[in-house]
Amino acid sequence: MEPYFHLKGSFRTSADASEAREDVGRLVGEAKSTILQKGVPDGRGATIKAWDITGNGIFFDIESDRYLRAHEAFIRIRKQLAAVLGKKYRIGIRGIDVEEYTVCLPSEKDLHSKKIPHVSSIDFDGESINLSLDVGEAEIENKVPDRIISLVEDKIRAQDFGGKAEHWNLLWESPKKKYIFTADPTAEAEKLGWIKRAPSRGQWIHGAQMTRLFRTFEQIVIEEILTPLGYTEMIFPKLVTWDVWKHSGHAKGVYPEIYYVCPPKTRDPEFWEEVIDHYKVTLEVPLDMIAGKIDKPIGGMCYAQCPPFWPFLQGKTVDDDSFPIKVFDRSGTSHRYESGGIHGMERVDEFHRIELVFIGTTEQVIAHSRDMQECYKRIFNGILDLEWRMAWVTPWFMAQEGLTGLAGNKEIGTIDFEAPLPYRGADGEWLEFQNMSVNGDKYPKGFNVKSRSKNEIWSGCSGIGLERWASVFLAQKSLEPENWPVAFREKFGEMPKGIRFL
Ligand code: ATP
Ligand code: ZN
Ligand code: MG
Repeated sequence: MEPYFHLKGSFRTSADASEAREDVGRLVGEAKSTILQKGVPDGRGATIKAWDITGNGIFFDIESDRYLRAHEAFIRIRKQLAAVLGKKYRIGIRGIDVEEYTVCLPSEKDLHSKKIPHVSSIDFDGESINLSLDVGEAEIENKVPDRIISLVEDKIRAQDFGGKAEHWNLLWESPKKKYIFTADPTAEAEKLGWIKRAPSRGQWIHGAQMTRLFRTFEQIVIEEILTPLGYTEMIFPKLVTWDVWKHSGHAKGVYPEIYYVCPPKTRDPEFWEEVIDHYKVTLEVPLDMIAGKIDKPIGGMCYAQCPPFWPFLQGKTVDDDSFPIKVFDRSGTSHRYESGGIHGMERVDEFHRIELVFIGTTEQVIAHSRDMQECYKRIFNGILDLEWRMAWVTPWFMAQEGLTGLAGNKEIGTIDFEAPLPYRGADGEWLEFQNMSVNGDKYPKGFNVKSRSKNEIWSGCSGIGLERWASVFLAQKSLEPENWPVAFREKFGEMPKGIRFL
């Protein structure tokens, strides 16, 4: 089975074009070897099955394969037709009417989703998914059919992968370590008063002890990575608008996991007075009343940390001596609406992360990613003394855009850094405690960034999750500083005294 496209549509004419029948016939006769042949392998592409001139238009019935999709053929014919009709007959083409556009895409299964914009029906006949498109001139000109086809092909591919969508390849692993502690560090930390559950879902208040731990991790990152590799600090926004996520690609898939942000419709106190009074009288926050007074979401809270950096470079040509750019951000929290079972500190809805972003020529970015891996090895082996491993996985942006399993260039991708949590048992799932990605030209392209020398620009990033580092370190090394590696203990200093309760 091959994809099949079938379009029936007309070009509306400014006057009856009957007198042009002979010229139109000639155009149609030649089309197969001229306009419909350009860029198409011999014998493939689109075929005009029938055509006709009616009082107010010219009708075409076009069939095609994937080499020249029927709607592309239709547009090519329009150009040619307009030239013939205009010059000789002074007749203009006023618009397009698509009566029927059927697209058949081979698939072994039916589609889960039956609601796709501009698709009026979706059927499965055992061999292919047959779509009936509801498109007009504007949609054809804006390439809507092509995006529907890519979307459905992505869905078919994702369904065929069936669950095991993410690929995973071991790159490196440390020697096994003897576990000295097998309790759940979150529960222990709670008992010791290092952390306390906060009111929101998957949120914690970090006491002085846990905060010291996070800050020590940060200090190590500064000393072992940021300073030697020449990073400078920046502050990235933490409220991210749709526009940023459109350019970064997150708009393609982030919806189930973001915290949405809605501004008030106005900041006029009078507008809000009834809400204020309602609370003062009933001591209940009137949620429905508030819902009527806030705007639609303008975006969401920081999800991936680097996208809101990119508008800094957007549309710019960067001087070559600025490359490689190496900047990091640790200015605020990230927020994700995680799936159920968020019992501990390792998977939370509000977390703290240092994000490192590097940008340069292809060679610079690849070399930098290697240097950074060496720095990480020094930290996890030499200072934290962890059992851990690195794995090559589906690039995070492909995962987040729902494009799992489609890795192209073999230099582009994500390394997950994973470690076992002894309290989960010998066969427990390993926790991803940070990652590092080479994202290719995705961001420079998405945000239209160029270099003066016109060299291709790549970027990469690495997200160091402090809750994840703490989860792994404490799970393997316990909450007893006596048990911690000396190199780490020296940096940590004395354990801060927490607040004591009666
Ligand atoms: P997971 O598969 O464990 O959910 P992820 O693939 O969603 O992780 P990324 O999107 O790659 O994670 O985010 C980069 C880093 O951000 C992670 O390696 C981790 O350190 C941190 N991180 C992501 N989600 C959370 C979370 N819910 N709680 C704590 N840290 C997180
Ligand atoms: Zn990033
Ligand atoms: Mg996740």
